Amino acid sequence: ECLSEEDRDSIKRLIAQHPCYNKDAQHKFGRIHLSVAPKCNIKCKYCDRKYDCVNESRPGVTSEVLNPQQALEKTQKVLEEYPFIKVVGIAGPGDPLANEETFETFKLIKQHFPDVTLCLSTNGLALPARIQDVLDSGVSTLTVTLNAIDPEIGAKIVDHVNYNGKTYRGVEGASILLENQLEGIRKAVEAGLVVKINTVLVPGINEDHIIEIAQKLNDMGVYIMNVMPLICQADFADWTAPTPQERKAVQDSCEPYVQQMRHCRQCRSDAYGLLGKDLSQMSEERRNMVKV
Ligand code: SF4
Ligand code: SF4
Repeated sequence: ECLSEEDRDSIKRLIAQHPCYNKDAQHKFGRIHLSVAPKCNIKCKYCDRKYDCVNESRPGVTSEVLNPQQALEKTQKVLEEYPFIKVVGIAGPGDPLANEETFETFKLIKQHFPDVTLCLSTNGLALPARIQDVLDSGVSTLTVTLNAIDPEIGAKIVDHVNYNGKTYRGVEGASILLENQLEGIRKAVEAGLVVKINTVLVPGINEDHIIEIAQKLNDMGVYIMNVMPLICQADFADWTAPTPQERKAVQDSCEPYVQQMRHCRQCRSDAYGLLGKDLSQMSEERRNMVKV
């Protein structure tokens, strides 16, 4: 309600050109992920830290970490070649807010490409502490991974959190994470960011709880929710992933409360191009032509 007409128009324009927030944009507009954030401040039980952050990414891939200057150079090359890329995001391979390089990179990108949409995804632990830095960076779309709004359930999914120099486990760790996530999401929505929530569907743990998360997101003014299937690795190596039908049933139950993203491709933290037509996955030959 406190947004001006102008703010509302710019939000409409950025949603129209963001392939993850709007399925009609996915064939027309692309995004580039810059893999500048290797460290993480929590340990999810489904995470194998050899690979990219599962909260936003595809299993079993390791993206090469770039420094901010290299990330800028990559962006310059890719945007020159692919002007349909309108979104520059940082999603890993760890938690972007646990790495100062995230902010340095956004600053460089903003200086050189003032018109692109900056996008960030995080587990949310450091969001209240860093929200002002996120806003100052010019980020306008934010994804937070929120797997539970009950710390008893959360504790079955997160192993520990590192917070203000200490390690917290079990329900205590999950409570700290949850409090920060909710406060961070609230502040982000209040500041006018367009917020997406990723929720990893873990059968036997949160499948009946996700609808409660959706109801909460409705109250909080979150724009869209992305229910992602569990990737069975690390502590969940012997678990069973949800079937597409199970995932769809959860999404259908949540749809009345918050719009559902159903076209997520679980991209790599260094992906670029159109969703599902990831140029970083292209043949060596084609990539050399693009010279990235
Ligand atoms: Fe792994 Fe991402 Fe969880 Fe960190 S937030 S432990 S990188 S899945
Ligand atoms: Fe979009 Fe999903 Fe890919 Fe993230 S992982 S860029 S939300 S399609």
